[in-house]
Amino acid sequence: MTPNVTPLVAGNWKMHGTRASLDQIKAIAEGVKGPLAAKVQSLLCPPATLLYVATALCDDSPLAIGAQDCHETASGAHTGDISAEMIADCFATHVIVGHSERRTDHEESDALVRAKAEIAHRNDLVAIVCIGETEAERKGGRTLDVLKTQLAGSVPDGATAANTVVAYEPVWAIGTGLTPTVADVAEAHAFLRAELARRFAGEGVAMRILYGGSVKPGNAKDLMGIDNVDGALVGGASLKSEDFLAIYRAYEDLTA
Ligand code: PEP
Repeated sequence: MTPNVTPLVAGNWKMHGTRASLDQIKAIAEGVKGPLAAKVQSLLCPPATLLYVATALCDDSPLAIGAQDCHETASGAHTGDISAEMIADCFATHVIVGHSERRTDHEESDALVRAKAEIAHRNDLVAIVCIGETEAERKGGRTLDVLKTQLAGSVPDGATAANTVVAYEPVWAIGTGLTPTVADVAEAHAFLRAELARRFAGEGVAMRILYGGSVKPGNAKDLMGIDNVDGALVGGASLKSEDFLAIYRAYEDLTA
């Protein structure tokens, strides 16, 4: 955790979820009501098809709704893409950019991720910028170099603590059940904090840095209790409301 920074617990449903899953969104929206909401922010990023209905379901809930990606331009002939304006038009407030699955499946570069974050900002969306090393890069001792390059290339100059969240997601930990050690997470987050502080001064000190990669109810407290870990980006475990809420509630102890 970082002093005076409100943590964020965010769920990424990826390409999962149909209208049948709206009950899960409702349960999460209900479950995050309560005193903890004053101390911890919660966010769910369902597929684009559910965005508009999801924000309607969260009308009276502190649960924010975000998208999983946006196009880097405002509009145009880009079949199948969605724009930041469309996301904001659904009353969503956040968008994930540069998730490793986008970087791999769609060969997204740091420059493209940065352009996506910039257009998110122009539409008053908070950009959640994902970075992380592959298994080969970690084994080759290149983790911090990779993080430095991705952070510098993907986060726009206009980033502030209010409009940008960085998510550190080791690629090899996503969806695998593997997690780095507490010491490894602490090292990566301390490094990212120093880089952000150097580039963005006070804004970088207060910018949230989430950890993502096989966060589960059983390991959430250990991971989110690490210095400079300001929340979690949760994939698989966010699909079940009880698991997502158990992760969110890990902060009951951490903020007590
Ligand atoms: C993710 O999709 O960003 C993620 C971290 O997935 P999981 O929690 O399933 O590893």
